[in-house]
Order: sequence, then C-alpha cells, then structure tokens
Amino acid sequence: MSSSFDIPTLDNLGVDPTVLDGLSPTPEATKWLTAFRTNIHDRATGLITSTFHEFGFWKDILALTWNFRTIRGSSTIKQLLDARLALTGLTVLSLAEDSFRAPTLLKPTTDVVFLRLCFEFETNYGRGTAVVFLVPTPKTQWKAWSILTRLGSLKDYPEKVGPLRNSAMDLEWEGRRLRELNFADGNPTVLIIGAGHAGLGIAARLKYMSISTLVIDRHARIGDSWRTRYKSLCLHDTGIIICLISSKFPSTWPMYCPASKLADWLEFYATALELNVWLSTRVVSATWNEEQMSWCILIYRNGGVRKMTVKYLVFATGFGGGFPKMPDIEGKDTYDGTVLHSSQYISPVEFTGKKVAVVGAGNSAHDIAMDLYRSNADVTMIQRSSTCIISLEALIRSLGERYNEHFPLDFADILGSAMPWLSFRVLLKGPTLHTASTIDKDLFSGLENVGFRTNLGIDGAGPLSLIFARGGGFYIDTGACREIINGNIKIKSGSSIRRFVSHGLELEDGTQQECDAVIFATGFGELRNSIREICGPDVASKVGPIWGLDDEGEQQGLWRKTGQPHLWIGMGNLGRCRFHSLHLALQIKALEEGLITGDDIYVQ
Ligand SMILES: Cc1cc2nc3c(=O)[nH]c(=O)nc-3n(C[C@H](O)[C@H](O)[C@H](O)COP(=O)(O)OP(=O)(O)OC[C@H]3O[C@@H](n4cnc5c(N)ncnc54)[C@H](O)[C@@H]3O)c2cc1C
Repeated sequence: MSSSFDIPTLDNLGVDPTVLDGLSPTPEATKWLTAFRTNIHDRATGLITSTFHEFGFWKDILALTWNFRTIRGSSTIKQLLDARLALTGLTVLSLAEDSFRAPTLLKPTTDVVFLRLCFEFETNYGRGTAVVFLVPTPKTQWKAWSILTRLGSLKDYPEKVGPLRNSAMDLEWEGRRLRELNFADGNPTVLIIGAGHAGLGIAARLKYMSISTLVIDRHARIGDSWRTRYKSLCLHDTGIIICLISSKFPSTWPMYCPASKLADWLEFYATALELNVWLSTRVVSATWNEEQMSWCILIYRNGGVRKMTVKYLVFATGFGGGFPKMPDIEGKDTYDGTVLHSSQYISPVEFTGKKVAVVGAGNSAHDIAMDLYRSNADVTMIQRSSTCIISLEALIRSLGERYNEHFPLDFADILGSAMPWLSFRVLLKGPTLHTASTIDKDLFSGLENVGFRTNLGIDGAGPLSLIFARGGGFYIDTGACREIINGNIKIKSGSSIRRFVSHGLELEDGTQQECDAVIFATGFGELRNSIREICGPDVASKVGPIWGLDDEGEQQGLWRKTGQPHLWIGMGNLGRCRFHSLHLALQIKALEEGLITGDDIYVQ
C-alpha cells in the first residue's frame, strides 16, 4: 500500500490531467453507480470496497450506523459493511438527475477533480440521499473518494407535513391546545431543556413525528437568550442560512437579522408551530432510572414543584450551558472600575467618554469594541494570541454558492456535511489562503501593521476549523477591523493579563493598561456544566466530551448518542441546528417505535 494522503490530488492519484479531456459526467457516474448498486444488492462487501479508492471514506449519518461516523480505508469500510449492510438492508435506488444534484465535475483546487453524484437509497427503516465524490484513477476508472449516506426520514413514520398534515377541521382546537400545552392528561415523552433555536427546532421535528414534547426555559420569554445580548447585535449569517425548520423569514426581511428581531421571530415560531413551551421554569433535578429506562424530573414552575417521568432528555442549553468563562485574575478587589463578562454587556451608553479594555479578540470582542467606539468610548482590545479573520464579504461569497434563493436549502445543508472533515480541512487551505491574499489582503496587512495578530485557522483551514474545534477564536469582519487599522480601536497584543491594579490592568510584559471598565469577551464555560447541575456529576462524566472533533472528524457529543442512554445534546449555530435537529428526532422516534434499541448503534 502506498503512503496515505488526505486529499486526492491528481499527482497523489498518479493521474495525467489529459485523462479528463472531453469527459461526460453522467455516463461515468452511471457506470460507477451500476457496479456499486449491484454489489450492494449482492451484499458483496469485498467488491463494494473495490469501487472505493484504498484511502477512501464512508461517512454515515444514521443510515448504516444509527450514529455519526466516518470510516476510512478499504478494510475498515469492509468491516463496517460486513457488520451493517445486511442488517440495515441498504438498497441503492436511483441516480439523482435534477438540475442541482445531477452528476457534476468539480475542481475545488487546481489539482483536485471530483465527479460528484447523488443517489437515493432505502434501508429497512427509512430513506435518504447519498452524496459520492469520485476520483479518477490511472486506468481511467473512477473510484469513490468518499460517500455520505444520510438518513432523511423513516419509511413508516414520515413527518406530518405538507400533504400529511391534519386535514380534519378541529372544532375544539382551543381547549385541546390548552390541555396539550399544560400536559393536563399526562407527561411528555421528551423533555427539552432550553427554548433557544436549538430546543425549538428539535421540538418542531418531534412534534411532526407525533412525539409528545415539552420544552422548558428559565427565561420569561422565548428569544430572551438573544434579547439579553448587546443591543447592537446583528447576525453575521444571511437570513437564507439561518432560517428555521418549516419557516423561511419573510422575503422583505433585511439580509442580516438583528438579534432582537430574531428573538421575536422565535417567539412567533413557537406559537405558530404549537410547540409546548413552559417559561420561567427550571429543572430542579433529573434522575436516571436504569431499570425503567426513564428520567424522574422535578420541575419548578409557578411557585410549585411538579414531578414527571419522561423517557428522553435533551439538553439545548446553549454554549457552555450559559455559564460565562471569566478568567480568575489576581487583584480584582483592588480595582476601582467596572468588570463585566460579554454576556452582561448590553449597551455602550454608560461607557461614553470612558476608557474601556475589552479582553479577547473574537466575534463578541470585536462587536463590543465597535459598539463602544461608536459611542465615543476610548477602547483598547487586549489580544492574547492571534485571531482568524475573514471579511463578511468573503464569507458570503463562498457560502452564497449554496445558500442563495434558488438553491434547495435541504440539499445545501447536506452538501455542507458531505465531504469528510479529514479531507475537507485540507481542501479549505487553498481557498483560505487565496481569500487572505486577494479580497482580504488589505485587511490582513492593515491589521498586522497595527500589531493585531492574525492566523488562517487550524492548519490554515480557515474559521470553520476553529468553529469545529473550539467554537471561537475567529472574527467575521463586519467593520471593526477598519477601526482597528485606523487606530480608533487600539490594540494591545501578545501579552496576557498578570493582575488587576487600582486603575486598570497590569500585563505580563510589565505594561499597564489604564481603564475605567474591563469587559471579558472570553467565551463560555464547560458545556457539561448544566448537565452536571441538573443530572449530577456521574451522568455528566458518562456523557463524555462535548464539542471538538473526534478522530474521525465528527463533532463529539452533539446530536448523536452520548455515553448516557436517553440523553442527547443539541446546540450550534442556526444552520447546523436546522440540519441536525432532524437527526436527533429520528433517533428518538426510532427508539420510541422499537425500530432500534441502544445496542443497534454502531460503536466499533
Ligand atoms: C454575540 C453572538 C453572535 C452570534 N451570531 C450568530 C450568527 O450570526 N449566526 C448563527 O448561526 N449563530 C450565531 N451565534 C451563535 C449561536 O447561534 C447562539 O449562541 C445561539 O443562541 C445558540 O442557540 P441555542 O438554542 O443552542 O442556545 P441559546 O440561544 O443560548 O438558548 C439556550 C436556552 O437555554 C436556556 N437554559 C439554559 N440553561 C437552562 C436551565 N438550566 N434551565 C432552563 N433553561 C435553561 C436559556 O435560558 C436559553 O434560553 C452567535 C452567538 C453570540 C453569543
């Protein structure tokens, strides 16, 4: 076997580029799919792997594994297929030939060529779409570099949407809805903690799979997690990327949605979709009963405690469960000024004319520094280490190919997850460098000139690498960079804070930063904090790590099986929550209908 590589450049593949001259994608894709289909049908696992490149990947979302897995290399793929192919009954249906999914030749970089094809498939349980990236071989035969099999629905339990919605006139809707909302006739099957967009999205999916669900939130209003952030906050993603399940934003809406507007929309969304949400409510405790396979929950609401038994528990409590991360810095008691975490910062008004140090150099730090500068505060941003920068314009250009008014949203989401991360991260390097040296060139050089330190993400793979690994460490520039370059927002970079002094901060390099206020934009704490608080330390440690990527390049602990039975965690930006909420709901529905048990989840 030759030594492994993560991207199939023509050079790595030993392919002469002229092989591609005059190539017709559909006949080549059909040829590959015909062989693949026959081998899948015959359960000939050895022959299936022969249609893959030896270093190829099989990425699966629930179809074969009831898990999120990326399996690499012929022998490991064969092991997966030997264990799961007959059991799940995977059958290849048809090649997708509509204008968006038809076989297409792609050149993501100058030396990489993929022939992308999509096909529909079925398993014993459900249906889905597969995306295959083929690469050429020296013998002019095409082989799969990667395949994604993604379960999209359960055959016997489709979501009750469109033609399947309730077609009867409901003459007693009001009374029925009230009983349902109050769970007057029994306990819910699923309890979701957190009514942000993650919790509401999961509840919507479950509702339309006829799973009784209650969402609780400690806030008084749905959307308060956005309303209580700084007033100037506008989302950095366009309305096309961030729309919720079953509800696009009105086409009259601004491209970039202000946070409070999104908050109101979330409130409206929960009412319109008849989601069961209890507000100003807390879970006092959740205790797992292994014998009954259920949770005993104590809920504090309206001054009283209600005990309920539910089968499934979902945490949608947001980044760090809402626990701010504040560095423990010596001498805070001696400091005369104000100290805030970014989550406590609402408005710049009280800081006008004052000296403010903003600690951190990610998205929140930049937004807050900009907000303060606009209100005539004297702002210094304290940057400990370098930040990955991309302009909003560059980001929108790259995402806009898929996320635009003409491209089907569901397919755009599938494509976003189609390429295995181990390859994708390498493919991102070229475009990241290209962006930094063309459209964002002045931004980078201007920032470096004033001492602001930049990077291009982990291994040069841009902001996505940092989002997946840490959920932070980058800034999508919406204007603060210009003010940093112009000197209107000052920069102190490359030194950590040693301690507070009476009039400000002392840094490790011995310099002092005089300031009337210090705002820590240092992110949020350990994601397991809220699980620990509600379920206790044993469950929190069984759950395992959350966020960051595992060895296969899959996100840890989110949307899929955790170490604790019947406990899931859903969180992330609006786009990922829209996509993965379906997968979480499918797992619960499959367990609930007895299609699978916990043992059916592939863990080898
Ligand atoms: C400044 C900023 C800008 C952002 N910009 C974007 C953007 O442009 N695009 C994008 O897609 N994402 C953006 N995000 C990221 C992300 O979408 C948000 O953090 C989002 O709020 C996460 O949604 P969520 O539902 O997971 O959590 P949240 O919105 O934080 O909701 C969690 C809910 O859980 C409740 N809760 C927590 N613990 C408990 C408990 N113990 N009991 C009861 N209730 C509890 C909270 O009250 C809260 O309502 C941004 C985030 C920040 C901070």
